[in-house]
Amino acid sequence: MLPPSPINLLVYCGSRSGTDARFRSVAENLADRMAEAGMTLIYGGGGIGIMGAVARRLIEHNGTVVGIIPEFLNSTEVALPWCTELIEVHSMHERKMKMLERCHAILALPGGFGTMDELFEAITWRQLGLHNKPIGLLNVDGFYDHLAKQIDVMHHEDLISKESRAHVRIGTSLDELLPWLESNASVLPPDPLLPRWT
Ligand code: AMP
Repeated sequence: MLPPSPINLLVYCGSRSGTDARFRSVAENLADRMAEAGMTLIYGGGGIGIMGAVARRLIEHNGTVVGIIPEFLNSTEVALPWCTELIEVHSMHERKMKMLERCHAILALPGGFGTMDELFEAITWRQLGLHNKPIGLLNVDGFYDHLAKQIDVMHHEDLISKESRAHVRIGTSLDELLPWLESNASVLPPDPLLPRWT
């Protein structure tokens, strides 16, 4: 099935801002590009760090922002009350599943453990055939150079197959990744595997 245009883009990124000012400017640039393209942001619902920067900027553009946050984080991550749609869930598992369900494509920006957990879950679920959404990793200022190298090592040692390696595209610019995500965006996970989601 062809994806609708414009797409829902799931963005994983840090709940902290980091030290490199480019992380925030790239996040805002992403929001500008999404607003221009009419894309909807699906994200973790928080108002802090890089994640807050993307959402806030898109809201400033009157873009559509869907935040998905577990009840227990709603005070620490401070869910943006002005999200177009704010969905409160019971657990991190439910959050991650709902975020994946609502999107057509996935993009990770710089982040920490939470971002890594979300990114690798999306990749491993894709590897298992639970969804077929494209996954991009934006390598801002070489932030993900070591991770990219480690993925190459795992592939070289044949612990990651060629097919699985192709599930994530690592790029250095939005110009490279956004058109690729849009043209590969997908709507639904393969039907026979749907029951395995729960
Ligand atoms: P971080 O990259 O650690 O700043 O986290 C980014 C997002 O991931 C935040 O919305 C966190 O709530 C979420 N997160 C943090 N820890 C985990 C985890 N263990 N599993 C899934 N998501 C997490």
